[in-house]
Amino acid sequence: MADLAAIIDDIAAEMADAPDRGTVASYIPPLAAVDPRRFGIAVVTADGRECIAGDGDMAFSIQSVSKVFALTLALGAVGDQLWRRVGVEPSGSAFNSVVQLESEHGIPRNPFINAGAIVVTDILLGHHEPREAIGEMLRFVRMLAGDDAIYIDEAVARAEQDTGFRNMALANYMRSFGNLDQAAERVLGVYFHHCALAMSCRQLARAGRFLMAGGRNPDTGHNIVSARRARRINALMLTCGHYDGSGEFAFRVGMAGKSGVGGGILAVVPGIASIAVWSPGLNERGNSQLGTLALERLVQRTGWSIFDPRVF
Ligand code: GLN
Repeated sequence: MADLAAIIDDIAAEMADAPDRGTVASYIPPLAAVDPRRFGIAVVTADGRECIAGDGDMAFSIQSVSKVFALTLALGAVGDQLWRRVGVEPSGSAFNSVVQLESEHGIPRNPFINAGAIVVTDILLGHHEPREAIGEMLRFVRMLAGDDAIYIDEAVARAEQDTGFRNMALANYMRSFGNLDQAAERVLGVYFHHCALAMSCRQLARAGRFLMAGGRNPDTGHNIVSARRARRINALMLTCGHYDGSGEFAFRVGMAGKSGVGGGILAVVPGIASIAVWSPGLNERGNSQLGTLALERLVQRTGWSIFDPRVF
């Protein structure tokens, strides 16, 4: 394999020239205003190397990538009981779809579609005040990344709140089935704030290291989660992390991955690397167009797909 830093630089240069960059999310002004020419990538390897290219140190809205961290915290709070309220199957439908919820009695298919993440956030909220739960999330990702500069973009959170009618509908609908303990407004206040976490690719790749390392925080050697739980979170990222584009992501890239509508993707190859890419233009399923292409090229040049025998 060629030098990792050179591979990352080459990919960033290729992405700078890519003609088809997808469409930037436009449902809230702070996301619509992001420059579609941005591209960043960060790779953190199991042996501690960090390679960054393009806009890899520029903060962006991680959006649904935050669902991975929310799930990790909620599992820490209630353990496997969580799976009574959220499924572990791919949805095959859009991230904010309402249709399955009725036939499946208010139990969302998985923790990464919006409905599932809203239930996870309800669990996270538990008996806390919303601002305490938001603070807990922020402290958690700062600790995972080893970086206290990570922040929540209040303008994004406010804009989500102002336009989040469909998320409100999902939350209230689940409450009607008894699958939401708290009032929809309280839960969504926390949900919109964790979606509004602003992080760079470097910070995001660092925050994903525990999933690469069998649940262990490489900075401290302590376990964030057990190896079994890390494996399960990775499995859910692979099967559900890109919504109805999860099959295509597994087919083209073959890493555990979670996308966000801000154009970020966190991708994990257990034992090998934690990777974050960011390009704000999205494909028709709401996943980063160039982020996916960049990961596909990274796999071609490194053999880092989880399905590639060279890894093992
Ligand atoms: N905050 C966004 C929403 O709830 C997150 C969606 C996403 O990133 N796919 O609609």
